[in-house]
Amino acid sequence: MPGEPQEDCLFCKIAAGQVPATIVRETETTLAFQDINPQAPVHILVIPKAHYANAGELAAGAPELAADVLRETEAVAKEQKLDAHRTVFNTGAGAGQTVFHAHAHVLGGRGLEWPPG
Ligand code: C5P
Repeated sequence: MPGEPQEDCLFCKIAAGQVPATIVRETETTLAFQDINPQAPVHILVIPKAHYANAGELAAGAPELAADVLRETEAVAKEQKLDAHRTVFNTGAGAGQTVFHAHAHVLGGRGLEWPPG
């Protein structure tokens, strides 16, 4: 069920404190933590604590929570003093999604090319 914790979901476990992560920000509804395989000097993931498989499911099922996640991406960028940053939601394995719990990548601290790979 969208919004309900999934037993086999890594990010649900991080949200529940069952798997360690380097947390940089937390709100009632969201968590931001360092990506373990950073692709830029700043690479932080922002997740809703509730389980939604991807950004589209999150936006459809819980629009206020989707807005919380977006607000937190900006808070992270500000806190990290990024003058430019990129927020990425991969959706589907073909786009590089490997964890099927909605998450925003906040990337910055270096020049970011366009188009992305
Ligand atoms: O968009 P995608 O699903 O590929 O992003 C998942 C991200 O989660 C990856 O960047 C990966 O490095 C990160 N990750 C993490 N901590 C884990 C497992 C994966 O930060 N324990």
